Amino acid sequence: HAKDAGRNNYQFYTPSLSKRTPAFLTLEKSLRYALEREEFMLYYQPRVNIITGEITGMEALLRWQHPEMGLVAPNIFIPLAEESGLIVPIGEWVIRTACKQNKAWQDAGFPPLTVAVNLSPKQFRQPNLVDTLTSILQETGLDPKFLDLEITESTAIEDLDFTRTVLYNLRQMGVYLSIDDFGTGHSSLSRLQQLPLHHLKIDKSFIQDLTTDQKVAHIVKAIVVLGQSLGLKLTAEGVEKQEELDFLKSINCEDVQGYLFYRPLAVQKITELLQKGQLKK
Ligand code: C2E
Ligand code: MG
Ligand code: MG
Ligand code: MG
Repeated sequence: HAKDAGRNNYQFYTPSLSKRTPAFLTLEKSLRYALEREEFMLYYQPRVNIITGEITGMEALLRWQHPEMGLVAPNIFIPLAEESGLIVPIGEWVIRTACKQNKAWQDAGFPPLTVAVNLSPKQFRQPNLVDTLTSILQETGLDPKFLDLEITESTAIEDLDFTRTVLYNLRQMGVYLSIDDFGTGHSSLSRLQQLPLHHLKIDKSFIQDLTTDQKVAHIVKAIVVLGQSLGLKLTAEGVEKQEELDFLKSINCEDVQGYLFYRPLAVQKITELLQKGQLKK
């Protein structure tokens, strides 16, 4: 059921781009026009409760439909956007679109869920981040607690004092705060525990090695145990296999996000999912 609904495979355009090559420059140029040409869209990937399979939230993931090249992968164009500063207006579009969509789902009568957006390092360091978020929430009418902001572990630890200040301000606003890609930033939970977080997402590179590498299994277990003792909600990213799910269940990880349940889906598919069942009020 759920698995089949997620079977919308698509091919990303993923060239090997080195800076200053014609391909890079062309892509950067077209990225400048992508917003006004309305070439961006958001896909949403549900995350689910590991026991009940119920959807507990979603993550908005940006897609760029390039007129000639087709769908360009975020791993290609996000770094480009970050470097050129275009990530700021693009990121604002992402936040506004996700908040608007979430409000629309709530207004349609579906049980309220948090929708996460990814904040890039440069976005996170914008001095007017709080103002921007406040006005988007006001404009869309979304209750702040249903906006989930993801920053990566690397973004968070770059300047812990700065991060703490910003996160306290965001927490004051009432938004939900998540650390993304946990485990890749080579920090430790003892450093992150000084931050006012709600939620930790374990990076998918760990989940991939979970069933083949005992050491990785131990590490993931330690992250879950320690994270929970710090009062954080734990999500495992990139769960593709039943064996991975079984292990995560055995260590009481709460939520999972991965192809085993759902791929990132277009708005219409998510709406159909929400209409399908268990989820309608
Ligand atoms: P992320 O935030 O860690 O998002 C999760 C990525 O893992 C997504 O890739 C998702 O499609 C993929 N994924 C989910 N489940 C599985 C699975 O079971 N197996 C595998 N192999 N992959 C899975 P996606 O959509 O290609 O995005 C890649 C990255 O691009 C994101 O990683 C995030 O860092 C960045 N990104 C995406 N959208 C945005 C955005 O709006 N703003 C910013 N700043 N970054 C974004
Ligand atoms: Mg993310
Ligand atoms: Mg991640
Ligand atoms: Mg990532």
